[in-house]
Amino acid sequence: MAISVYTSDGKTTQLPPETLESFRGGLRGELCLPGEAGYDEARTLWNAMIDRRPAVVVRAASAADVLRTVRLASEHGLLLAVRGGGHNIAGNAVCDGGLMLDLSLMRGIRVDPAALTVRVEPGARLADLDRETQAFGLATPVGINSTTGVAGLTLGGGFGWLSRKLGLTVDNLLSADVVTANGEMLKASASANPDLFWAIRGGGGNFGVVTSFELKLHPVGPQVIAGLIVHPFSHAKGVLQAYRKAVEKAPEELCCWVVMRKAPPLPFLAPEVHGTEVVVLALCYSGNPAGADAAIAPLKAIGTPIAVAIGEQPFAGWQTAFDPLLTPGERNYWKSHDFVELNDRLLDVLLDAVRHLPSPQCEVFIAHLGGAINRVPADATAYPHRNVEFVMNVHTRWSDKAQDAECIAWARTMYDATAPFATGGVYVNFMPEDETQRVKSGAYGPNYDRLAQLKAKYDPKNLFRMNQNVAPAK
Ligand SMILES: Cc1cc2nc3c(=O)[nH]c(=O)nc-3n(C[C@H](O)[C@H](O)[C@H](O)COP(=O)(O)OP(=O)(O)OC[C@H]3O[C@@H](n4cnc5c(N)ncnc54)[C@H](O)[C@@H]3O)c2cc1C
Repeated sequence: MAISVYTSDGKTTQLPPETLESFRGGLRGELCLPGEAGYDEARTLWNAMIDRRPAVVVRAASAADVLRTVRLASEHGLLLAVRGGGHNIAGNAVCDGGLMLDLSLMRGIRVDPAALTVRVEPGARLADLDRETQAFGLATPVGINSTTGVAGLTLGGGFGWLSRKLGLTVDNLLSADVVTANGEMLKASASANPDLFWAIRGGGGNFGVVTSFELKLHPVGPQVIAGLIVHPFSHAKGVLQAYRKAVEKAPEELCCWVVMRKAPPLPFLAPEVHGTEVVVLALCYSGNPAGADAAIAPLKAIGTPIAVAIGEQPFAGWQTAFDPLLTPGERNYWKSHDFVELNDRLLDVLLDAVRHLPSPQCEVFIAHLGGAINRVPADATAYPHRNVEFVMNVHTRWSDKAQDAECIAWARTMYDATAPFATGGVYVNFMPEDETQRVKSGAYGPNYDRLAQLKAKYDPKNLFRMNQNVAPAK
């Protein structure tokens, strides 16, 4: 029986059974139709708000599988979604009725310790990468939740504990193998297709499917000094004012994010603190251990914490520290702003929102950027936000569908209230699916026009449209 598949222009087409069967026979990986083994696993994303049913799923095992799948989609004009780690909040990794290319089985990683590089396949998670590279005492900067996919994170920019010292993940990208819309495999690097290389360093999945990332490695740890300083919410404003001052002079080896939420039942917190609002300073010092005490002292000197749990630990272990709070399968809606400073009026607005968290899992993260990230010119890569010091990410999380409206409304209210203090820019990887109007001015700003021209060159029919989409220039 022919399979009905959505096309990218909103219509449907019939894929004859012989087309599908001969395609299936040519794969090293799997083709899954609804009801077949692997189908539900592939279509289930980190964010439980996303529940879409593709007509066909290809679970690629190799670059050749990717090439064949892109050619099939291109030839038949199919609606195509591409999944790396499946973490993106917007849920564009899966589509209803179309063709889903699932890369999550391609998790190979090869470290070259002599060249200080690593090759990463597009289904690898941050935990896979850290595990392999840290065996050599090496690392590249990625995000702070180990189940996140390397692919989506890298293509949007990528920042975490090491970024103030070592830059964004894209600043460490040396080359990538990209399958473009016409079904060709191109190398993108500073010397090969440099325009494509520019575009994929922040431009997301707009330009093709990356089957291999080559990243620069640096000596890191493997032990670092990291942990949490927990303050009561009643002292929040003073703590944040002192935090702001302390990080102003922090060395780039030190990165300290703020997390405001109801306290989880951590073993070092007294039971009466559990479930009450707290302000947490989460820090990682990845420099020479001899400098750790002096670097961290200004943060430790702030106020009267409820608990201080900082110590030497494996970097790869610290990379998993937030995993228990960021588990898959919850309903999620995020809102994000970029800031160059945290002024007092902004702090008041933030704190007021945290007093009214709509669920126990909701949290406000303030990521600490600056340093090496901001030494790169805004037009050197597609990621343009090179003046940003702090990124607010409102993680609205809840379990019960009945709370959808209340939780989403809380996040939107907070977003609106904090907007006057923000740059107007936004990290593309933190945007929910209903923010398409922010792609041009918010996510890409001055780099948008160049991205649109490159989109017209590499994907004129917008085959890769399931993403924070850059429309091809006319
Ligand atoms: C809990 C959590 C914590 C996070 N923490 C951080 C953080 O600390 N720092 C940070 O920078 N980001 C962070 N993020 C955001 C993260 O960078 C994005 O969600 C990213 O898109 C995840 O990548 P993925 O491969 O898992 O996602 P997916 O949902 O699989 O992919 C996202 C999109 O990328 C594109 N894509 C994926 N793979 C490919 C490929 N191989 N080729 C072409 N296009 C592709 C597709 O358009 C897809 O829709 C976090 C996200 C979550 C959910």
